[in-house]
Amino acid sequence: MKVLVLGAGLAGIPAAYFLARDGHDVTVIDRQSAAAMETSFANGSLLCQGHSYPWASPAAPRIMAKSFFRNDQALRIAPKIDPSMWSWLLKFLCECPRSRADKHAATRLRLASYSQDVMRDVVRDTQIEFFHTAKGLLYVYRTHHSMDEGLRQMRVLEQAGLKIEVISGARVAELEPALKPVADKLVGAVYVPSDGTGDARLFTAELARVCAEQGVKFMFNTQVLDLNVDNNKVQSVSTSKGVFQADAVVVAMGSYSSILMRKYGVKIDVFPVKGYSMTVPILRPEEAPTMGGLDEDNLLAFSVLGDRLRLTATAEFTGYDMRISQKDFRYMTQAAKDLFPTIGDYSNAELWCGLRPATPDGNPLFGPTQISNLFLNTGHGSQGWTMSCGSGKVTADLIAGRQPDIDMSGMMYQ
Ligand SMILES: Cc1cc2nc3c(=O)[nH]c(=O)nc-3n(C[C@H](O)[C@H](O)[C@H](O)COP(=O)(O)OP(=O)(O)OC[C@H]3O[C@@H](n4cnc5c(N)ncnc54)[C@H](O)[C@@H]3O)c2cc1C
Repeated sequence: MKVLVLGAGLAGIPAAYFLARDGHDVTVIDRQSAAAMETSFANGSLLCQGHSYPWASPAAPRIMAKSFFRNDQALRIAPKIDPSMWSWLLKFLCECPRSRADKHAATRLRLASYSQDVMRDVVRDTQIEFFHTAKGLLYVYRTHHSMDEGLRQMRVLEQAGLKIEVISGARVAELEPALKPVADKLVGAVYVPSDGTGDARLFTAELARVCAEQGVKFMFNTQVLDLNVDNNKVQSVSTSKGVFQADAVVVAMGSYSSILMRKYGVKIDVFPVKGYSMTVPILRPEEAPTMGGLDEDNLLAFSVLGDRLRLTATAEFTGYDMRISQKDFRYMTQAAKDLFPTIGDYSNAELWCGLRPATPDGNPLFGPTQISNLFLNTGHGSQGWTMSCGSGKVTADLIAGRQPDIDMSGMMYQ
């Protein structure tokens, strides 16, 4: 079959890899000049099954309410008239009750865990290198209140099969000596041994190289304009560089998937949630963390990629606005310096932002749509790196008409 994959990020490239392995004639189309140039470019690098509890949680309404009164918060909501944003936020609030959030957590964990298994196979088969660590992640808490809520969420994941260890601040310092100077500010942590870190952009770029070697064609600098639908099938895709025939189409365009899909009556609630990252040159490698983690009270993620410290924070609702300014990083820099005051050269940090393609319930979206050969692989929100390989495999299975290896309930387009 001729399969067109629209989007060359963490969702699109693994899908192209598995589709090519199934023997399809695959073409990836992307408006950028290379793979992983948008949201997959400089994310938090965490392979974080422990982050599977959705943002739409019982604690979220309170955090949202607080964010209206303080603009230094990890969560920001732009006070603007954007009906699609407010409608998304309303649906998000409807997903916050405990019973719903617990159910979505188990769904997300199923894909996140499966994805780690699939990634292991991909790495074994391709020998890709991407600063991968598999030492686990630390989810650290500064207050009893945050630890109680964090632990409740982690227990839900534990019941769904995730192995966790609840540890004291002192044990955090033993496991991760880089956190020793702040150990007395921590009330404890959850250690998830099966988590890890890795450079998502490098992984995606390297897997794209392997795909090209295996015959996948790439159309970069090519804008997707329209799908040409006839007889309930996409017959071809119109782009800025011509029309491409298709037997099947995978939409993996991150936050932009919903804009394209709307034109064809495929309603998906994928909305951009902006996040920021700083990549800081490491000055003192001997003091750098040896594993990644999350400062849960500041919603700050950290990881080491070779000689760089990657820090990410902030969930901002401001539509597709990609502007950044120094003040967007003030809060993150403060939180980062509190954890790692001397390790990095903060004055020479590379600053970046990206748009998480988020759904209200936190579950990604797959499967055929009402247009029979149009498949989705999008809506991975804050876990698109963790879920990338599993999502690619599932997409190839669905296109082949095979039963995916995991139960896909809660993740299929309806
Ligand atoms: C600050 C931040 C930190 C994060 N940290 C983590 C983390 O630690 N762990 C984790 O698991 N996840 C993390 N994520 C989430 C993860 O990065 C995303 O879920 C993932 O990158 C989404 O991948 P994607 O392929 O769906 O989107 P993208 O990477 O954005 O890819 C979509 C592609 O579609 C292309 N495209 C869009 N429209 C068109 C068009 N009209 N024509 C042609 N091409 C088009 C774009 O050029 C782009 O290349 C983080 C995200 C952010 C923003």
